[in-house]
Amino acid sequence: MKRFLESESANTKKQKTQANRKYDDSYLQFGFVVKFGSENSTPLPQCVICQETLSNQSMKPSLLKRHQLSKHPETENKPIEFFSFFSLK
Ligand SMILES: [Zn+2]
Repeated sequence: MKRFLESESANTKKQKTQANRKYDDSYLQFGFVVKFGSENSTPLPQCVICQETLSNQSMKPSLLKRHQLSKHPETENKPIEFFSFFSLK
């Protein structure tokens, strides 16, 4: 007895699109702002604590949070206002 496997659905290849990730205001909760001047071309996330700039492909919550937890664990769960203060310096 043979089982029919639906191979059609597994055959959809992902196309590599180099779409720019966009900055979201909620990323400030991880301590990131968009690097000044980069938002009009390729938005880059910049850490307000150490000023490190990550790549556009790192512009997603999981990677931003990883930076926060590995480099600035003491800032986890700080209010947005905490980071706003840094970003205004
Ligand atoms: Zn940092």
